[in-house]
Amino acid sequence: MNLVVVSNRVARGKANEPMTGGLAAALLPVVEKSGAIWVGSSGRVREGAQKEPFAEIEALGAGALAMLDLPAAHYGGYYEGFANSALWPALHSRTDLIRASQEDYLSYREVNAFMARALLRFAKPEAVFWVQDYHFLALGAELRDLGVTQPIGFFLHTPWPARAVIGGVPHHRELVEAMLAYDLIGFQTQDDCENFLSYVQSDLGLGVQDGVVASRHGRSHVAVFPIGIDPEKFAVQAAKAVSHPDVSRLRRSLNGEKLAIGVDRLDYSKGLVNRINAFDEMWTLHPALRRTVSLLQIATPSRGAIEAYGNLQNELAKLISDVNGRHGEVDWTPIRYLNKGFSQTVLAGLYRTAQVGVVTPLHDGMNLVAKEYVAAQNPADPGVLVLSKFAGAANELDTALLVNPHDIDSMARTIATALSMPLTERRMRWEAMMAKLRAGTIQQWFADFVDALEEAQSDKAATEPLVPEPPTLWPLRSVNSSTRF
Ligand code: UDP
Repeated sequence: MNLVVVSNRVARGKANEPMTGGLAAALLPVVEKSGAIWVGSSGRVREGAQKEPFAEIEALGAGALAMLDLPAAHYGGYYEGFANSALWPALHSRTDLIRASQEDYLSYREVNAFMARALLRFAKPEAVFWVQDYHFLALGAELRDLGVTQPIGFFLHTPWPARAVIGGVPHHRELVEAMLAYDLIGFQTQDDCENFLSYVQSDLGLGVQDGVVASRHGRSHVAVFPIGIDPEKFAVQAAKAVSHPDVSRLRRSLNGEKLAIGVDRLDYSKGLVNRINAFDEMWTLHPALRRTVSLLQIATPSRGAIEAYGNLQNELAKLISDVNGRHGEVDWTPIRYLNKGFSQTVLAGLYRTAQVGVVTPLHDGMNLVAKEYVAAQNPADPGVLVLSKFAGAANELDTALLVNPHDIDSMARTIATALSMPLTERRMRWEAMMAKLRAGTIQQWFADFVDALEEAQSDKAATEPLVPEPPTLWPLRSVNSSTRF
């Protein structure tokens, strides 16, 4: 098997750099080991990208990283437009934030078609394609139109919301119909999977049996694959990171005060405003907790060119400044607010320093920060995770303190409870969560998906004897690496 993983963003294997989101962070270690080819955007756009899209191909562990420049004329409409101003808000049940034009949709389809043509280079007979996330809902259908018959799987890292919400996405029928060209469609949770199947049955009128959808594309298997992390690696990193200058400076600055930590991309799905309101409420209800606990909130800037993100950044900065102004003292700042990213090595040490991890998204596919916080704890004296019941991670981490992020009072009380939880209870909850993390590692997730994709393909082969000729490969051009395909 020759695995080709496709995502909008790729990650280079640099341990000392921040990751730009869960997908790239999660995939890097497993893709590195698997020998797969990982294809994604170089982060640059180019006018002539249509002629030869690949900008760089370089070795990545046992495999390779192939980065392409996306077409300049369509990038904005695809990325900031349809993907992040129509699909992302809808997938997070924020139809009120959907802003996308017909041109954006056409650019989205154009970039999907462009990626499909670029992927022909890797469409060897033994190739298996695995497409990641909402940027490429239609990529499988584009590949099929080009004659690709190899297995193609898809995994959605975000939630899949209720039928009516998907109905708010322009061209939703066309897009979901195109998704059915994938042999296997993976979701983070059972709810996501059920919502998808309910849409397919009710809105597309298609038959579903035992998680298999029959459409004009053939049979498409739909299943749940909750994404994990490498908990042992995080535990080791966290223990080592205590001596990192950023971590030891933080520890020294605390002077015996407790710390709560939040680490998020600056995104409206992360529930940051409600979280800050909950801390405000907690310090108002429990004045004794002033000076004894502060919040370190890392909010990494994200998608800054989109209006909703700029608005959120302004709102949050003002809110935090108000809360600090109201509760702060000459020698105490309630909320330390940082708009920058940290490497996972440093993050692991920051997580371990905090007695409470606050992960309170309004809606989140999985939320890897929740899992990383747990894995980074000191087993002898673990911190407490306060987790939104609307994060995919809540299905596994059910011994965290689960909260409704819309209920500010209850969140405030739960954070106070976390801060005073006795050691025996903290250990019991933490051990149960660690057991879940060990049972569902990122390595397991990767292997389970690839196995299921191969099975889905054998099922298809058994029901569809027709195997057309493989497509013509793109000619190879000289690239700045010794890797050749
Ligand atoms: N992350 C990082 N540096 C930062 C902030 C976050 O490397 O400063 C990583 C974090 O370790 C996690 C990922 O980014 O692996 C965020 O994933 P998550 O699923 O929590 O959220 P997403 O950003 O994908 O919505």
